[in-house]
Amino acid sequence: VIRCRAAVAWAVGKPLSVEEVEVAPPKAGEVRIKIVATGICRTDDHILEGCFPNVVFPVIPGHEGAGIVESVGEGVTSVKPGDKVIPLCLPQCGECSFCLNPESNYCLKSHVSEPQNLLPDKTSRFTCKGKQIHHFLWVSTFAEYTVIPEYAVAKIDAAAPLDKVCLLGCGFPTGYGAAINTAEVKPGSTCAVFGIGGVGLSVVMGCKAAGASRIIAVDINKDKFAKAKELGATECISPGDFKKPIQEVLTEITGHGVDYSFEVIGHADTMTAALASCNMNTGVCVMVGVPASGSVISIDPMLLLSGRTWKGTLLGDWKMRDCIPKLVSSYLEKKFNSDLLITHTLPIAKVNEGFELLRTGK
Ligand code: NAD
Ligand code: ZN
Ligand code: ZN
Repeated sequence: VIRCRAAVAWAVGKPLSVEEVEVAPPKAGEVRIKIVATGICRTDDHILEGCFPNVVFPVIPGHEGAGIVESVGEGVTSVKPGDKVIPLCLPQCGECSFCLNPESNYCLKSHVSEPQNLLPDKTSRFTCKGKQIHHFLWVSTFAEYTVIPEYAVAKIDAAAPLDKVCLLGCGFPTGYGAAINTAEVKPGSTCAVFGIGGVGLSVVMGCKAAGASRIIAVDINKDKFAKAKELGATECISPGDFKKPIQEVLTEITGHGVDYSFEVIGHADTMTAALASCNMNTGVCVMVGVPASGSVISIDPMLLLSGRTWKGTLLGDWKMRDCIPKLVSSYLEKKFNSDLLITHTLPIAKVNEGFELLRTGK
């Protein structure tokens, strides 16, 4: 058993509490990882807000980390102690019918199919003050050590800087993949990205890499515009500056609506606005933002009948175990610069300060 620090969420609406926790050794088919760095994704904040009723507290959040294998359980062959790895919040067992389908990146053996946020054997490896603490998405990267099923671990290049590539655990691949895999943005096209946080900025980078000629960033926080432009946005607009609904503004300034729109916020109203912003016939709208559980959308069916495509994405449609190591190699070859997404670096003791920076849009 390893004793180390972890940021524990004891209850909805409470700040995280940095505690000493016990991390049990990995069982068969599991890997114990020393987490070196983790990003904060808005999904972690959704947990603290209580948006997902199936997440059981107390829980250790965090799902965008990178680390080093400390030990492995019986039968683990794909990684060994000392390997650099990225924990995968979407696993890839490689055997289920979804994993065997080349067009799917979902895995039937994922925690999403078994939502009680314990490991596959329905137990936890974390305790604190004599209490069992739940895992989050099986990865719980807000702990200095975490235990994960082998098929939710990707071995990466030994040269990768873990404090940078941790972003390849969620935010960057989600946004970048939403543009290049899910939407399949074409060269010369026009794109609109609603919400330019870490994930939305990664969509902007993906649209640019795919050769879009016009990339319109939409956000209520104008402080985000400079970074969006640096990463490839050609225009930035704030809905508050217009009397008309933003979908009408976008339709007007582009003639017939954009070719591709992306919702990267997680609100029902911006999801329908993004759908209505793409052109009526060949437009493609991708839902990236995670809505609060129980959200309902009602739309005029004509929006889809006229030909539009509306799709969602999980982690940017990458088959995670196959693709994350390749994305790390592309990062090392400087094919994209996800370092530009890093705004602050804090020690784990200041994790709540990190959440405050996220909530205040900094
Ligand atoms: P973030 O909070 O950093 O960014 C959200 C941005 O949206 C902010 O810049 C905010 O100012 C802007 N915004 C808020 N309300 C707006 C409005 N009404 N109109 C325009 N802009 C508005 O969040 P993030 O970490 O970039 O995550 C974005 C979303 O993506 C979250 O919902 C997160 O849960 C989700 N997500 C989904 C997946 C997936 O697999 N689909 C993966 C990771 C994250
Ligand atoms: Zn995330
Ligand atoms: Zn599978």
